Amino acid sequence: MIIKPRGTSDILPADSPLWQKVESAARETAELFGYGEIRFPTFESTELFQRGVGSTTDVVQKEMYTFADKDGRSMTLRPEGTACVVRSIIENGLCGDAMPLKLYYFTSCFRYEKPAAGRYREFYQFGTELFGADTPSSDASVIALAYTFLQKLGIKDVKLKINSIGCKNCRPAYRQALIEYFSGYEAQLCDTCRQRLQTNPMRILDCKSPECQKIAAGAPKVTDHLCDECRAHLSELTSLLDGMGIAYELDPGIVRGLDYYTKTVFEFIAPVDVDKKTGEKKELAICAGGRYDGLVEEIGGPSLPGIGFAAGMDRLVAAIRLSEQELPAKAKPAVYFAALGARAAAESNKLAYRLRQEGIYAECDIVGRSLKAQMKYADKIGAKYTVIIGDNELDRQSAVLKNMEDGAQLEVSFEELYKILSERG
Ligand code: ATP
Ligand code: MG
Repeated sequence: MIIKPRGTSDILPADSPLWQKVESAARETAELFGYGEIRFPTFESTELFQRGVGSTTDVVQKEMYTFADKDGRSMTLRPEGTACVVRSIIENGLCGDAMPLKLYYFTSCFRYEKPAAGRYREFYQFGTELFGADTPSSDASVIALAYTFLQKLGIKDVKLKINSIGCKNCRPAYRQALIEYFSGYEAQLCDTCRQRLQTNPMRILDCKSPECQKIAAGAPKVTDHLCDECRAHLSELTSLLDGMGIAYELDPGIVRGLDYYTKTVFEFIAPVDVDKKTGEKKELAICAGGRYDGLVEEIGGPSLPGIGFAAGMDRLVAAIRLSEQELPAKAKPAVYFAALGARAAAESNKLAYRLRQEGIYAECDIVGRSLKAQMKYADKIGAKYTVIIGDNELDRQSAVLKNMEDGAQLEVSFEELYKILSERG
């Protein structure tokens, strides 16, 4: 048997209605906030992610699916969407449009990570990006979009954490303070963090190793090193959120895994898994983002501020499943045509086709079952009505309409069928 690669998933028809619910809530919310959809390629030049995500990040150093194409060019399966969106707006001249430019996307992402609950090698994101505004109110509008979206999904126990990681003016001094602090613990840090100490010390704050997390808990806080502008930006953002009634927690430990962030960063956390032994709920980030004012320039475009987020759809689906709500299911047919004999079967096919053309979900036998087996199948697929047609009915151009809920039957003409089903179906 050929099996799927580790860390990938099949989304089957029984699961799809929940994914569709997430997708429609995402689309609806994005459009309420004035965002337009953008789609981009599955693979891009490797250089885009080296420049955009940052060459010292875990994503670029350890997690990318990179390959040489037949012409020897280095290509990478997208590990995230923001760099792709930025490349696209520069290449397509959208940076010259009236601002703000507001875009949303659905994308699969590829990262070579150690698979676990909520952590896959191919996963799905709903993302949004807003360009051309650097105000605290633009940050607040982006966070409000994410908040509205998560509310629509009815996920329980969602927490919003916010931080500012400073800008190019205040970050260097903070970086220095981190190097000084972590150098004192160099021997206890994990191998990766020992490297990070030289290349990107802020990443240590994001390390998932418990030992490093313990050390990081005592590290200097970025919020104590912000310049006046970054401090004022954060304080105005929090008062805007207060005004909208969006609850948050200021958490100086949130630094985010990608290099391009400046000022505001945020994460929405929720339970996505339950430990089978202890019953303890495991929380992960279901949606995360931040401001990236230098990214467009870094990728070769004009100086254009931006802010966005990406929500991990696999984790959203898992969180909804834990939220004790009724899960959506595949639609059930309004009617099933059960036919006795070849002539009636042909007529059923025609009638089912006609109803589908009118927008009514109809099914009929195409397997060649006996009438009894057809009735059993109609019940199994949850048809609201069954229409039974035999030779006698066919001669009268009518059929027996059976309500599958209460068993009531009545004979109706083919012409009446559509009317009745469109009213009651
Ligand atoms: P984490 O800290 O959990 O590794 P991250 O910082 O790498 O997340 P981002 O790159 O910001 O995540 O991606 C945004 C969102 O995409 C995350 O909040 C999460 O919901 C989802 N996500 C990221 N990596 C994975 C993965 N390997 N499998 C499933 N979902 C993921
Ligand atoms: Mg990660």
